[in-house]
Amino acid sequence: MLKRIQNPNVSFWLSQGVKKRVIIVGGVAGGTSAAARLRRLDENAEIVIFERGAFVSFANCGLPYRVGDVITDERKLLVATPELLRDRFRVEVHTEHEVTAIDRAAHTVTVRNLSDGSERQEHYDALLLSPGAGPIRPPIPGIDLPGVFTVRSIPDVRKIRAWIDKHAAKRAVIVGGGFIGLEMAENLRRRGLDVTIIEKLDQLMPPLDPEMAIPVRLHCESHGVTVRLGDGLASLTAAANGGLAVRTEHNLEIAADLVILSIGVRPETQLAKAAGLTIGPRGGIVVDSHMRTSDPVIWAVGDAVEISDVVTASAALVPLAGPANRQARIAAASIAGRATGFRGVQGTAVCGVLGLTIASTGASEKSLRRAGLGDFQAVYLHPGHHVGYYPGAKPIHLKLLFRPSDGRVLGAQAVGEAGVERRIDTIAMAIQMRATVDDLAEAELCYAPQYGAAKDPVNLAGMIAQNARNQDSPLAGWAEIDGPDVSILDVRESSEWHAGHFERAVHIPLGQLRDRLGELPKDRPILVHCAVGLRAHIAVRILRQRGFDARNLSGGWTTWRHVEAAAESARVCLPESRVVPPEPTG
Ligand SMILES: Cc1cc2nc3c(=O)[nH]c(=O)nc-3n(C[C@H](O)[C@H](O)[C@H](O)COP(=O)(O)OP(=O)(O)OC[C@H]3O[C@@H](n4cnc5c(N)ncnc54)[C@H](O)[C@@H]3O)c2cc1C
Repeated sequence: MLKRIQNPNVSFWLSQGVKKRVIIVGGVAGGTSAAARLRRLDENAEIVIFERGAFVSFANCGLPYRVGDVITDERKLLVATPELLRDRFRVEVHTEHEVTAIDRAAHTVTVRNLSDGSERQEHYDALLLSPGAGPIRPPIPGIDLPGVFTVRSIPDVRKIRAWIDKHAAKRAVIVGGGFIGLEMAENLRRRGLDVTIIEKLDQLMPPLDPEMAIPVRLHCESHGVTVRLGDGLASLTAAANGGLAVRTEHNLEIAADLVILSIGVRPETQLAKAAGLTIGPRGGIVVDSHMRTSDPVIWAVGDAVEISDVVTASAALVPLAGPANRQARIAAASIAGRATGFRGVQGTAVCGVLGLTIASTGASEKSLRRAGLGDFQAVYLHPGHHVGYYPGAKPIHLKLLFRPSDGRVLGAQAVGEAGVERRIDTIAMAIQMRATVDDLAEAELCYAPQYGAAKDPVNLAGMIAQNARNQDSPLAGWAEIDGPDVSILDVRESSEWHAGHFERAVHIPLGQLRDRLGELPKDRPILVHCAVGLRAHIAVRILRQRGFDARNLSGGWTTWRHVEAAAESARVCLPESRVVPPEPTG
């Protein structure tokens, strides 16, 4: 008999020399990671994995690239096999075995062998749930037609590849423009298909703020992907030619040879719910910092759990491999009786589409507003990924969010063709360490001309925020340009001005500013802009030292174009039901 320690935060087992039976439900990212870690901590435990599918420990993240033939050998997707788990870790793996019920009082699970339909009860001393999240399949007409696919498993990918080959598919419709949708768009383009993405929101990549998603849409379109925003999937019908007719909510019909559903995922919680485990407001299994559920001998990790967001402190579902693996490590340590704790999630993520990298960490402006956190400011910048004099510099569109009251870094998003993920990873670490914009400004980062700049984009973002906080160069948001009591000053060169400018702006190129100060008002704020913010910063410093209330329109004309395009997208995509009728007059 195992002796239970009552304080669950300290240690659960007095396990020296005692063989405890740990059952793991789900044998991919979280499940196998927990099994391997647990074995490294406890040679005595009996560890058993039940996996519903035919494979364990496969790389779901690699699935889109198998469709696109980047991964030419399917076996490369298998990170570990049942044999490896048995030989190296003495973990017993049962594939095609589904756990269908948990009896918490008896400490047993019901397991169905999917190959022969037989059922049996299995005892556990500790149970770990890592069932993941299932793709959302909306209940619309035609959703189950042949040729409509989701992407979650190796068999899914086999079916997609076989369908493309058998039907010589030429046209694909992807429903949903998030991570998986974009990765599938890239890989289907790679296979030579025409791709249309339909996305119900007015932007691609929902975790980004809308203006940051503009370069993503433009890039996809410039690579031949048709992007239809603000429109959802209404129905699917089989077409006479053997293809599919995709009808959208706005009544557009698109002909397709295959349809990929990438609308999002929903945590797999049926088992947990039926067992009476606590489910949170976001629909995930509630766990404590040890990844323990509301039952002290059941742990849960990965896509199925709900975790506190480190920035907004709200409950969050973050279906990503990194958190699943780290949580698995924590859960295993907790099962083995070690004191440990999960720090929470911040949603650090990266996605590549057709040569563009999109990455983000921490809070977005949207999520801060949703959480009711108004004490934040945004910095936009568009530096090269390395110095401009070294050939091949590519711009990074970077947005940093920070808290003006104490300078704490809250989040960042970046889009560009090179060097994006490195900057976001640096800021991700800063957020985890509760760093401030001063820390970003001071960060000592590696530099040589082909890699970066002596003032790295991360340093620059910190410096801009620092200058805003100490009022050397306060920032203005783009919503402020329509204010009646502000002047707009454009300090770009004449050629840039003639290519496009604000009607009401005063144009004084930076080189002439000191000689033309008399043309500017002292009785109201002057919002200064250039192309990306650097010349405007110099202008702001000149003006503020001469008594003007000058502020830098962050990110310059480049950011304004993204902001304006996002606003236009929102206007165009506004469904009629959401259009507010004008107030009756008279
Ligand atoms: C196409 C694709 C691309 C992705 N790309 C990335 C990426 O680039 N970066 C990133 O960070 N994340 C990515 N992810 C997400 C990442 O794969 C998941 O966050 C991670 O796998 C979650 O781990 P998990 O253990 O919670 O669930 P999973 O790895 O999904 O494993 C859950 C397993 O549990 C099994 N299961 C469920 N219920 C039962 C039951 N009752 N009995 C037995 N078995 C059961 C399921 O069959 C499934 O195999 C991607 C996901 C997909 C689908």
